[in-house]
Amino acid sequence: MVADARYLSDEQRAMRETVRRYVDTVVRPFIAADRLREWDMDPSRRLAPHLLEEADAAGLRALGVPERFGGLALDPATQSQTLAMVAAEIARGDSGLADKLVQNWKISVLLGRFATEELQAHWFARYLAEPPFLMAHCLTEPRGASDRWLPYDVVATNMDTRAERRGDTWVINGRKQFISNGYDATLYVVYATTDDDQPMSRGTSSFLVPRDTPGLEVTRCNETLGGRFMNNGEITFTDCAVPADHLLVEGVALAQAGIYFRPGKVLVATKSLGIGIGAYEDTVAWVHDRVQGGRPLIEHQAVAWRVADMATRLEAVAALLRHAARAVDEGWPEVDALTNMAKVFAAREVVAVCQHAVELHGGYGAMLEVGIEKALRDALINLHSDGTTDISHFKVAKALFPATAGPYAGPGG
Ligand SMILES: Cc1cc2nc3c(=O)[nH]c(=O)nc-3n(C[C@H](O)[C@H](O)[C@H](O)COP(=O)(O)OP(=O)(O)OC[C@H]3O[C@@H](n4cnc5c(N)ncnc54)[C@H](O)[C@@H]3O)c2cc1C
Repeated sequence: MVADARYLSDEQRAMRETVRRYVDTVVRPFIAADRLREWDMDPSRRLAPHLLEEADAAGLRALGVPERFGGLALDPATQSQTLAMVAAEIARGDSGLADKLVQNWKISVLLGRFATEELQAHWFARYLAEPPFLMAHCLTEPRGASDRWLPYDVVATNMDTRAERRGDTWVINGRKQFISNGYDATLYVVYATTDDDQPMSRGTSSFLVPRDTPGLEVTRCNETLGGRFMNNGEITFTDCAVPADHLLVEGVALAQAGIYFRPGKVLVATKSLGIGIGAYEDTVAWVHDRVQGGRPLIEHQAVAWRVADMATRLEAVAALLRHAARAVDEGWPEVDALTNMAKVFAAREVVAVCQHAVELHGGYGAMLEVGIEKALRDALINLHSDGTTDISHFKVAKALFPATAGPYAGPGG
């Protein structure tokens, strides 16, 4: 029910079939074949290269790349809705893989808008030619990530990472942490303070930084609770010099990043939904198969109640998500409230769905080799992706009551 085709155009329906085939024939079998693989402490061995190669063959890496550079053109009137549908399908297979690909889409959109023609031609050609090529978006630092999301727009909360113009280069110094794809990306978008006298909204710039730039060092892969097929990393920049044309947005980089922050919230919500659908499908199969008290679990009233509750929560998430994705595509005034609501609501509801899933599996729910516990771990990660639940609520309050919400909600909507 939740992936109801009646809301899809012919283009979206065809894409859904392609993604579903990829997820059901490549991703789910890969995960099921070795449930301990995600715990391999060598991050480069966790996700086999053929998963990204097959994603590439299915056209899933070209999303977000401008058509003139070989990208897949999507109808702009429904672009966020289409990406949401695709991301949910991928997350139904694995949320870490969805994270990997979604970061690439978001950054492709950003480059398409702000990078020079020459840099786009160079990097999109390489990106499309190399399936393992990943991109990362480096905002978070050891201090003050929530302050940046609100934002608390005062000089005291400016980023510690700094970039300084020296001749024909920008020289970056600082440290970024918790970065999706940070461990194995080829290309980074890095946010840094360029004017200490201005608050964050006017003194932060963004830069394109290739991985092989001297002074860029990937210092660790973070071992995470869930989403473990995406390698989250920490990166330091020590006198890391990029040519002047690698400046993407000067001063107002955070405001301009809105072109992917809004669809980004929808994509976090869809990743939650996909995890929930996967857990629901596995649980429905389980309760029809497992027998207790002489009959399948589904014939026990308390079990049926729980399954109905899972389905209800997923339907509600899917409905709000469709609404929020439409708000992005059509530029509704309520877009900030709706995208944050969708992200928070989806994350919380899907954690509840996955808890039911784990409980309905009984003792097997705790066993790594069965794998339903993975859904709960993956779902928990989305509670704070793209801003914590608390910060997202403040943004909802600010969007609803721009004049009267207190200073806790930051100055922006
Ligand atoms: C798996 C994963 C992937 C990530 N990927 C990326 C990425 O690709 N790029 C990137 O830049 N970052 C990324 N992040 C970072 C993520 O955006 C931050 O972790 C998140 O925004 C929270 O920031 P923090 O960890 O500094 O927590 P804090 O800001 O220290 O928050 C700690 C707690 O305090 C609460 N809190 C903070 N400030 C306030 C306030 N003013 N009022 C009330 N409560 C408050 C928070 O809600 C939270 O409960 C990722 C994180 C994870 C775990």
